[in-house]
Amino acid sequence: MPELPEMETYRTLLVQRIVHRPVTAVEIEREKSINVPVEAFKRRVEGRAIANITRRAKHLLFHLDSGDILLLHLMLGGWMFYGTDREKPDRTAQVVLSFGERSLYFIGLRLGYLHLLDRAEAERKMSGLGPEPLEYDFTVERLSRLLRRKRSVLKPTLTDQKTIAGIGNCYSDEMCFDAGILPNRAIGMMSDEDFAALHRSMHKVLNEAIRFGGYMENPLFPGDALTGGFDSRCVVYDRGGEPCVRCGTPIVQDELASRKVFYCTRCQR
Ligand SMILES: [Zn+2]
Repeated sequence: MPELPEMETYRTLLVQRIVHRPVTAVEIEREKSINVPVEAFKRRVEGRAIANITRRAKHLLFHLDSGDILLLHLMLGGWMFYGTDREKPDRTAQVVLSFGERSLYFIGLRLGYLHLLDRAEAERKMSGLGPEPLEYDFTVERLSRLLRRKRSVLKPTLTDQKTIAGIGNCYSDEMCFDAGILPNRAIGMMSDEDFAALHRSMHKVLNEAIRFGGYMENPLFPGDALTGGFDSRCVVYDRGGEPCVRCGTPIVQDELASRKVFYCTRCQR
């Protein structure tokens, strides 16, 4: 599932392409991917320009010049493509927003959705989310306070969107490895030094992943050289059995709170 760096990559690339441009046509292939009747959706979106695109947690918010917001969550398996009808991949798109001859295709929206909301509805939907880990006020003190409140183990707490927003299965494993802490470590057993290391690694891993375009497989547009650049830089996630980049010990693939987890038994304590 795309996480903070993937959505941030989409945001950066889409801002350059569709902001200030009007939506010339809307196609809905799957009504379940939206939240209002198709006609109402079209009426409120067609002809409106995209005023801005922001990100909150794993959501993208397309702000229309009317004040309405298209709230996107790709969930598992969702991705986007931007291009002409001729360039588009041979996949069914559940929703298509056209901007003249190019369109933004929303593909693989099974659990994912594109909801049309007014500002108050969008704010309500976002209100339960935890803080953004890359905000300036997300200090190590705040991190330790938030985590300690949960009295749980590390990984399920890091990926809990109500505790911290935007971190999922991949980056939680990557930051735990970078910090040298086992993902199944009881938070109550973590020292101040552990929290400092985790805070440092959280910034390092997320910022690097953003810089290299996240791990999404599919390019956003033909010639997109940014998207997916971090995939080969993941050192533990989905690398079960491969030698650890630091010590050579095979990476362990395990399950924690019914999710996959990857770690090195030697480098992480
Ligand atoms: Zn190791």
